[in-house]
Amino acid sequence: MAFKPANNIQDLQYFGEFGGVNPSISDSSTYTFLSAKTMFDTFEGNADGCYLYSRHSSPSNLYLGEALAAMEGTETATVTASGMGAITPVFLQLCDAGEHIVSSRTIYGGTYAFLKNFTPRLAIDTTFVDITKLEVVEAAITPKTKILYCESVSNPLLEVADIKGLAALAKKHNLKLVVDNTFSPLSISPIKLGADIVVHSLTKFINGSSDTVGGVVCGTQEFIDQLRNVNDGAAMLLGSTMDSLRSASVLKNLRTLHIRMQQHSLNATYLAEKFEADGLKTVYPGLASHPSHDLFKSMMNEKYGFGGMLTIDVGTLDKANALMELMQERNLGYLAVSLGFYKTLFSAPGSSTSSEIPEEEQAEMGLSDGLIRFSIGLDADIERTYDMMKACMVELNIL
Ligand SMILES: *Cc1c(COP(=O)(O)O)cnc(C)c1O
Repeated sequence: MAFKPANNIQDLQYFGEFGGVNPSISDSSTYTFLSAKTMFDTFEGNADGCYLYSRHSSPSNLYLGEALAAMEGTETATVTASGMGAITPVFLQLCDAGEHIVSSRTIYGGTYAFLKNFTPRLAIDTTFVDITKLEVVEAAITPKTKILYCESVSNPLLEVADIKGLAALAKKHNLKLVVDNTFSPLSISPIKLGADIVVHSLTKFINGSSDTVGGVVCGTQEFIDQLRNVNDGAAMLLGSTMDSLRSASVLKNLRTLHIRMQQHSLNATYLAEKFEADGLKTVYPGLASHPSHDLFKSMMNEKYGFGGMLTIDVGTLDKANALMELMQERNLGYLAVSLGFYKTLFSAPGSSTSSEIPEEEQAEMGLSDGLIRFSIGLDADIERTYDMMKACMVELNIL
């Protein structure tokens, strides 16, 4: 059967204990065993279908994990308490002291801070590269390199990674290609393009209601088992476990992701085209002017569009701040970090979500002071939103 991410979620069936249309929530941290022998076997990882303790696994977390694995086309997945709680164990599971990571330099601020400031304490070093230049990526690989890391669509600059090209490099040098697909769920399927492991912050589009943090690692059964191993599994031992009540609520939101992504993409495309036509410096992968527009097109599952994220550059931080405050006053969205909400969210990444990145490095990668990152909401009347946003810009002499 053809790989269809949203169908794959839709086709899963889980019933509740009494035939409920939603699976029952497993409201337990520990599980009884009928025999002591089964408990021992479970500890050893040899008793399929038995639960031991909910930091290791729980029925609710497995339901959500299986749905996300179906979406990404991996054998299985493990859900975590946050996106960072998914990403950091992957690095620590795959790298020993003395080993090396090659990472895109335009990545989520927290991931950047972890690789820049934290893993060097464990003698794991990272070289940050311009991920859009495959020859630069390859030149950074050393005999100690274990991981090639990128975001399919990067935060906040919306650079697009050539996942097929990176997968070929990973294969050639025997590395794992790990892709953070938080900005482009359903639109891009990294595994289909050759990635080994996909991570997400569920906090954003996937959950979509800005009411919780969460994360997932999608990969092979072998790798997920390693992460959850009671003796040396980074996910198990670092303890960033999602709570069952929360995984049940994320699973319910996941079921409408395809409809939400279509509307986010539709609205973002409309605004990006209008902003660009007005002469604003606009970055959106769906615009023909985006340097990786064709690449995105060649990778995407077309139906879900180019996603809900766009940036504009209004020149200075003062102007950016004034515009964001005025838009918020007029209820066009919220001045808030994060993304994937029904309401438009905007922030100036240089002074917020990417402030972990030193100013010189921000300048070098093109992250300017006047940049505003938008996560476009699910507005029913995007023409009205545009008219009102434009009025704000005219009032502030931006247009
Ligand atoms: C938010 C985000 C993360 C971190 O996720 P949390 O749920 O906040 O821990 C990682 N990667 C990207 C691309 C993000 O946007």
